[in-house]
Amino acid sequence: MQAADRLQDAPARSPASSGATGCTAPAVRSCRECGQAQRLPALTPGAAAHCRRCGALLRHAWADPLALPLALNLACLVLFAAGASTALAVVDAEGRRRAAGLFSGPAALAQNGLWELGALVFATTVAVPPSVASLTVYVLGGLRLRRPPPGLAWAFRLRNRLRPWSMIEVFLVGCFVAFAKLGALVHTEPGPAFFALFGFMVATIAADVVLDPQAVWEAIARRAGANASHFAAPGVPKEAARPARSPGPGLLCCPACDLTCEAPGGPLPGRCPRCAAVLHRRKPDSVARTAALALAALVFYVPANAFPVLTVIRLERGSPSTILGGVWELLAARQWFLALIVFGASVAVPVLKILGLGAMLASVLRRQPAHCLRHATALYRVISAIGRWSMIDIFMEALLSALVQFGGIATVTTDPGALAFAATVVLTILAAESFDPRLMWDAAAR
Ligand SMILES: [Zn+2]
Ligand SMILES: [Zn+2]
Repeated sequence: MQAADRLQDAPARSPASSGATGCTAPAVRSCRECGQAQRLPALTPGAAAHCRRCGALLRHAWADPLALPLALNLACLVLFAAGASTALAVVDAEGRRRAAGLFSGPAALAQNGLWELGALVFATTVAVPPSVASLTVYVLGGLRLRRPPPGLAWAFRLRNRLRPWSMIEVFLVGCFVAFAKLGALVHTEPGPAFFALFGFMVATIAADVVLDPQAVWEAIARRAGANASHFAAPGVPKEAARPARSPGPGLLCCPACDLTCEAPGGPLPGRCPRCAAVLHRRKPDSVARTAALALAALVFYVPANAFPVLTVIRLERGSPSTILGGVWELLAARQWFLALIVFGASVAVPVLKILGLGAMLASVLRRQPAHCLRHATALYRVISAIGRWSMIDIFMEALLSALVQFGGIATVTTDPGALAFAATVVLTILAAESFDPRLMWDAAAR
């Protein structure tokens, strides 16, 4: 650990002119991905600081880090309201029209007896996306008020935990695949909700890019000093840790707000003085949890592929098809690009995730040279980012089951294999979340 914790300054990349003054204060940061303690310099607007050892993004500074994300999240709420109250798609089969909205997919899945799958689709497309935008507006809007509302730190922590489960962008790709599949069955038109949700997706991505979470935490802490009764700070118990003043061994990185703290001397686990999260040197039981979740994902992946996920009946002909069967049908229809998307999301990504998690767990148990660790940490970043994209197939099936209910002309139902596949996706996302990449660097330093 001595080599790992020696004083280093994080390199900053700045598009601003050299004469620009910093918009952030210098700070000590322990990297969330490799555990390297380093001094973060003052950053000019637009500049980003990366970890010197593993390349992780430590901070991206913006001139006005609160106003633009607030405006974009307000736009998200308006667009989501439009998306939830209008039709997502309208289909026409021999004169009979049928429309589906954002709520139709979960309802159709519940009608098929797959209510657990319906609940997952409801959570990731209907409940979580507006909740994330509302919590962001609550925090950023609250910080602008003279007398801020209570629980800003709690609300921002919850927002950051929910963010990976907001999956509108994945849902839209699922809709795109569903429309292409529908082309062969019935006449399809995207409804106004599709375009509203597309706008929601663009605004969400833009808001994520311009949001500097560190600036939000600093603003919350500043306002807590001015009006202590309104923030988490008074709830912080006596063993609250102290923010680190210089890089050194044994520093703790807050899992919720990234504040780097000195380890408290007492027997109790320390708490972050800024957001009250419990501080641990590393994620507790990370290896055992990750291994158990990855193994469970592997177990569910067998029925996910063996059992059918979708049944398409057209003019009383058709049969249930598996995930690979669906890819094969797209290839047979010469829809190469869609076949590639579905194969990538439903076959390649889950397999690569499970193999990648295995490789990372092996890196914890075996010493690796530094350049391999940089690659392994980059692999962790990729695995954390791509897992949610496997939901494309589930969203596509939900929309098809909601839209195509024309009796003998054309009917689509989702089959129980989809439930096993969704379990695989959720378990791999949870496995990646519980893995602590710093353990790989610890193993190399031993
Ligand atoms: Zn690092
Ligand atoms: Zn914290």
